[in-house]
Amino acid sequence: MKQVAVIGAGPAGLMAAEAMARSGIAVTVYERMPSVGRKLLMAGRGGLNLTHSEDFEPFLARYGAAGPALRDAITAFPPESLRAWSAALGQSTYVGSSGRVFPVAMKASPLLRAWLRRLDASGVKLALRHEWTGWDDAQRLTFNTPAGEVPIAADATVLALGGASWPRLGSDGGWTEILARRDVAIAPLKPANCGFLAAWSEHLRRHAGQPLKRIMLSFRDHAMRGEVIMTETGIEGGAVYALASVLRDAIAHAGEATLHVALRPDIWPRELERRLAAPRGKQSLSNFLRKALSLSPVEIALLQEAARGKLAELSTADLAKLINDVPIRLTATAPIARAISTAGGIAFDAIDAHFMLRALPGVFVAGEMLDWEAPTGGYLLQACFATGAAAGRGVVGRIGAEGA
Ligand SMILES: Cc1cc2nc3c(=O)[nH]c(=O)nc-3n(C[C@H](O)[C@H](O)[C@H](O)COP(=O)(O)OP(=O)(O)OC[C@H]3O[C@@H](n4cnc5c(N)ncnc54)[C@H](O)[C@@H]3O)c2cc1C
Repeated sequence: MKQVAVIGAGPAGLMAAEAMARSGIAVTVYERMPSVGRKLLMAGRGGLNLTHSEDFEPFLARYGAAGPALRDAITAFPPESLRAWSAALGQSTYVGSSGRVFPVAMKASPLLRAWLRRLDASGVKLALRHEWTGWDDAQRLTFNTPAGEVPIAADATVLALGGASWPRLGSDGGWTEILARRDVAIAPLKPANCGFLAAWSEHLRRHAGQPLKRIMLSFRDHAMRGEVIMTETGIEGGAVYALASVLRDAIAHAGEATLHVALRPDIWPRELERRLAAPRGKQSLSNFLRKALSLSPVEIALLQEAARGKLAELSTADLAKLINDVPIRLTATAPIARAISTAGGIAFDAIDAHFMLRALPGVFVAGEMLDWEAPTGGYLLQACFATGAAAGRGVVGRIGAEGA
């Protein structure tokens, strides 16, 4: 019987293993960590946004330039199939008010447990604490294991090693060096859905961890409502992630980008001015702003920072204007280790229609290690599952069902 090695036990690798095991192929999944699916479990802490319910074409458009390259894989395993797959594992899903799809349990652990049971029943073997290091001269895969360096021969391999964010969960992008040595074209890994650095004063830094709620961010012709979290070194949070790719690319081009924050986007300028013109009496400016507009201490600190400490000297009109147009100068992305996902990776030109590397026949790739990015909203997991399934089918097509 032919032996297939899947390396990386995240959603993409496990899905590839499942597709192959269903065709009767002997599959072993190798994973460097002592347990599987750590990033999937981490995603579960935020409710596990599995996919999105929007129509197919707008859905595909979320992958930007990579959409055409992902079309076939997502067509073959679309959001409805992912939901049916989850339901078959006992985890039915629902559509949230934003159109995002979540398992009713709002976590990943029951889904992963049921999935591992099913994989085990279909004969998939797991080899944990196996860190892939490349190939030896006999073209066998090599692994660092607690027992030392182990070579393993495989008839086909699926690499599903993830991106480079949250490296403590197992994916650190170390594979880029191994594959670059084998002439695989790889776009540099970059943070996606990430935070940004801003040069905060000591005073503003004290508000790290505080949220700016129900604000609106704008950058050029992009705008996003939502929440921002202040960090020691800048900003992060859902609204920031949604603009992250344009901000990242603007900073790469110009060295900086100025983001504009509307702290009270639902209050018209005239109404803002009216409230700010009310007599302050003996109240401090902070107290007055807190009562007149429910501005929180962190929001007031941000305004102070933008006014260079001279907030009290602003006219009512200028203060009203600033409240809905606070500029924040961003100088860099926050480190990739803190990003939700990774942009860059193996170029689609480097693989064929079955996700096999052109430079390494018999080696297939899937998941976040490919060169695509997408916003949060379930698009990340959907593409990982769909490309994992596509790579699995690719192996079946190459070595034949039943491992013949
Ligand atoms: C905090 C957080 C929340 C998220 N929430 C969501 C969400 O709600 N919805 C969504 O769509 N996406 C979410 N994501 C993103 C999503 O989890 C990832 O896109 C997805 O897990 C990537 O799947 P993957 O299989 O490609 O890689 P991974 O899940 O990263 O799995 C790759 C595996 O390969 C292993 N590996 C790496 N190198 C080696 C090696 N050399 N040898 C052996 N094994 C190796 C790793 O240990 C890892 O287990 C979230 C991410 C984070 C960080």
